[in-house]
Formats: sequence, C-alpha cells, structure tokens
Amino acid sequence: MTLLRVENLSAFIEDKKILDKINLSLEEGEVLVIMGPNGSGKSTLAQSLMGSPIYEQEGNIILDGFSLNELSADERSKKGLFLSFQHPASIEGVTISNFLRQAINTRLETPIRLSEYKRELNKNMDVLKLDSSFSQRYLNVGHSGGEKKKLETLQLLMLKPKVAILDETDSGLDVDALKIVTSGINTIKKEHPKMGIIVITHYNKILEYLKPNRVIVLKKGTVVKEGELELIKQIEENGYEQFT
Ligand code: ADP
Ligand code: MG
Repeated sequence: MTLLRVENLSAFIEDKKILDKINLSLEEGEVLVIMGPNGSGKSTLAQSLMGSPIYEQEGNIILDGFSLNELSADERSKKGLFLSFQHPASIEGVTISNFLRQAINTRLETPIRLSEYKRELNKNMDVLKLDSSFSQRYLNVGHSGGEKKKLETLQLLMLKPKVAILDETDSGLDVDALKIVTSGINTIKKEHPKMGIIVITHYNKILEYLKPNRVIVLKKGTVVKEGELELIKQIEENGYEQFT
C-alpha cells in the first residue's frame, strides 16, 4: 500500500521556482532517503509536504488516500504527517509534558488518561535515555543541540505519525546521541511497522542504523536520480556532479 504519493509538486517563493515537478512515493514501512547538494531543495520539499505557508504550491500530495493540498500545516500534522525541524522553536512557560499531552489530545476524540499518558511518556523518555525531570522543562529553552533532537524524537514517539520526515536530524549529534535517537526511531518502527520514514541527510552514519530501502537525489529542485542503496556509496565516491 502506498502511504504517501507526491505528484508534480512545485514550490515557489515570490515567483522564484524552488521545486520543479517532484514525483515520489513512499510505501508502508519504507525508509526513503533524500540526498542532494546544499541548496538543492531538500528542506523546501520537507516544508512543502508539511504545508509551510511560506511557499506557493502546485501539484498533489496524497497521504493514505487523502489529499493534503488544501490543508494547513496543523491539519496535515493531525492527518499523520510529522516533520522534525532543523531548528525547532523555543517556548518559555510551556513544559514539554504539557505540550506533548496537548498535541496528543488534539488528535483524539476523547483525551488520553493522565496515568496512561505518563506511562507512555516515561517509557519513551527511557528509550531516549532522558532524565525524568526533562519533561518538566520548558520547550527547547536552554536545551543543547542534542537535547533538542531528542525532544523532536520524543515527539515522534509520542505522536506516532503515519509518515515521519526527518530533516538532518543527525546534524550536530555526537555518535552516542545519534545511536540513541536512531534506536528511538527503530523502536517506534517496530511498534508501528507501517510507518513510513523520509530521511534527509548528508551522512552515511544515520543510514547504517536506519536501514533505508530507497534513495532519491535532488538537484536544483528536481529529482535527478532514484536508486537502491548502492547509490549512497556512488555518491560518497563521486559526489553529485555525476547526476544532471
Ligand atoms: P537544502 O535543504 O537542499 O539545502 P533548501 O530547500 O534549504 O535546500 O533551499 C533550496 C533553495 O531555495 C536555495 O536556493 C534557497 O536559497 C532557496 N530558498 C529556500 N527557502 C527560501 C526562502 N525562505 N526565501 C528565499 N529563498 C529560499
Ligand atoms: Mg536543508
């Protein structure tokens, strides 16, 4: 079953075309890697899928049979799309625990029971080796780079989206933190085998842990190459010049 289908997606900022007729699909349980040189449009693609209002969009985005075209970012998120940000916002006065509970409850018809919520939260904080006091801190206030990435991953574990897009989640993580974050992602993959993941990265390391199925290469806002895993090696050896 196809989870996500993107048809001729173009994105514009002030009449400047940044994405040009992107086509891609993600099957249930698949891990798709998106690579490409700096400025090739990877983050723009992630933001456009999520419905960022910065971009004018053309084309179709279909998640699990539903068109997302007319939906806001918030509505897309409720439909099961998740984007981990390269630079998440800080919010003074909102604890992580309250923020996550609210985020979960807006997705449910009846609110989650507090005891169940706490059990789930503690379980997932354990997976990410986060101290139990972490959930009482304010959202991203005074967090280290690694803690911000872990918080993003904690959101992923708590919200259980249909499709998770990870935009350079590995950047700035040391080897140990990277292992913890990817083990968190693998934990939720095991619990929800149908979840699809799109990984945007420059590095092989995260791919060793996440076991991707397919790779696509973006250049100048368009898909220039699609392939299997050996493509990653080919890119490492010969860069992006080989694709036009
Ligand atoms: P990547 O994530 O692959 O490095 P981006 O998606 O961030 O690339 O950027 C793709 C192109 O779009 C770049 O040329 C960038 O300058 C341009 N771009 C992205 N966002 C904006 C913006 N908000 N305003 C103007 N140009 C932008
Ligand atoms: Mg980027």
